[in-house]
Amino acid sequence: MSLKKIQNYINGVLTDPIDGHYLDNHEPATGLVYALTPESNEQDLKLAVDAAEQAFPAWSNTPAEHKAKVLNRLADLIEVHQNDLAKAEAIDNGKPITLAKNVDIYRAAANIRFFAQACTQYSSESHSMENVAINYTLRDPLGVVACISPWNLPLYLFTWKIAPALATGNTVVAKPSEITPMSAYLFAKLCIEAGLPAGVLNIIHGTGQSIGAPLTIHPKIKAISFTGGSNTGTSIKQATANQHKKLSLELGGKNPTLVFADCDFERTVKEVARAAFANQGQICLCGSRIYIERSIYQRFTQALVAEVNQLTIGDPLLAETQFGALVSQPHMEKVLGYIELAQQEGGQLLTGGSQLEMQGRCAGGYFVQPTIVAGLSNSCRTNQEEIFGPVCTVQAFDTDDQAVSMANDSAYGLACSIWSQDISRCHRLAKKVNCGIVWVNCWLLRDLRTPFGGMKASGSGREGGLEAMRFFTEPKNVCIQF
Ligand code: NAD
Repeated sequence: MSLKKIQNYINGVLTDPIDGHYLDNHEPATGLVYALTPESNEQDLKLAVDAAEQAFPAWSNTPAEHKAKVLNRLADLIEVHQNDLAKAEAIDNGKPITLAKNVDIYRAAANIRFFAQACTQYSSESHSMENVAINYTLRDPLGVVACISPWNLPLYLFTWKIAPALATGNTVVAKPSEITPMSAYLFAKLCIEAGLPAGVLNIIHGTGQSIGAPLTIHPKIKAISFTGGSNTGTSIKQATANQHKKLSLELGGKNPTLVFADCDFERTVKEVARAAFANQGQICLCGSRIYIERSIYQRFTQALVAEVNQLTIGDPLLAETQFGALVSQPHMEKVLGYIELAQQEGGQLLTGGSQLEMQGRCAGGYFVQPTIVAGLSNSCRTNQEEIFGPVCTVQAFDTDDQAVSMANDSAYGLACSIWSQDISRCHRLAKKVNCGIVWVNCWLLRDLRTPFGGMKASGSGREGGLEAMRFFTEPKNVCIQF
């Protein structure tokens, strides 16, 4: 059987890579190659950038209502094809199909709808200097921008970047992860069906080395919206240091979860388990360092283990599956290596710890048991490095100050969740934790108007709402003396 070949989307047309090179695309649940991804080269990239450059004058002058109409058509099409897209995402990434439908695909449509509407409401500012002058601020699109996304929430994060870039009148060259290219390919077909003008969005497939790095340093690229690992973010910063591009970097996390004795116990157990293990722990926002007030430490960890042990682990294509496969063999090996390291560092496994041997269709898949480790210090590598898999640690704390200082003892600063019914304490602690997002008695509850992103090694810049609209536009102040 010949394998399905994914195509680039350049200048409104689906195209094969010029030199005909492809990468194997594995289905994580089976370990089998099921499709081929273009390993594009700089000639393909040139075509994509040139197409975006040519499309820019018309698109940047398109009235907001018209841009919104096309984008809303695209969101409608995502909803029409939600089942196919969810299935594609589950096959490509290993995530449970129900999660793919309810979270990934739902959010992909919501992202596009949100920014379609936002562009019709976006207004510039004016500042009056009493009887002397008036200032007004123009906000123009930047030109051709790059959107580079990772594999963990493929279409969700891809659209989260593309939608504000297009809504503000930029044209885009986007590169999805080479590990999960399928939903971006299907999305390209929907762009054609929605009538997005040629060249406005170009999707080019390939590795970070062949396409990602050349795209970021391309002289015609005015801004880079990147989501991925912190080391890649550093490389992009260094590579573009003398080019004066706008950069938005959404990077890794090692997020603390603070559980207090006065939490709503049953609900907190369920949500803390979800925060640690959703998408097999492969969400940048997952709470992988769980700090529990000492008086409930034993009871809470036992309940957490029981909650995790009842997760339905299995074929991502089955509706009842709650926990699927890890995204790739190298990633599975990395995660298993960290479980080994955790034990070498003196950690005790409360549950999990091994690769899962599945039966039938999934026998060759990349499944790892959800794993909880106790008995480690905060300073060990297991607690300091991002594992990005189904591994979390539990530690006890005695005071609010100790909880905050353990939470902040990290190179990362993306997200934190706090679980307590003492709302004054929650406010106090939310102010003290060094991260960009704090959830109180909830996790992953998202209002798309709010700033999204992290501090320290978790990145710089914010996405979401006005932050994204501002990132993708250049402010110009005009001062008129009376
Ligand atoms: P990655 O950095 O390896 O790759 C991300 C993307 O960058 C891919 O498309 C890749 O091909 C491309 N890339 C790789 N090298 C590049 C280079 N030198 N120049 C330009 N592009 C390059 O990350 P990943 O393994 O795909 O994703 C996992 C990481 O993403 C984790 O660290 C996770 O925490 C992070 N993440 C962060 C957020 C957030 O919002 N902060 C969201 C999701 C994932």
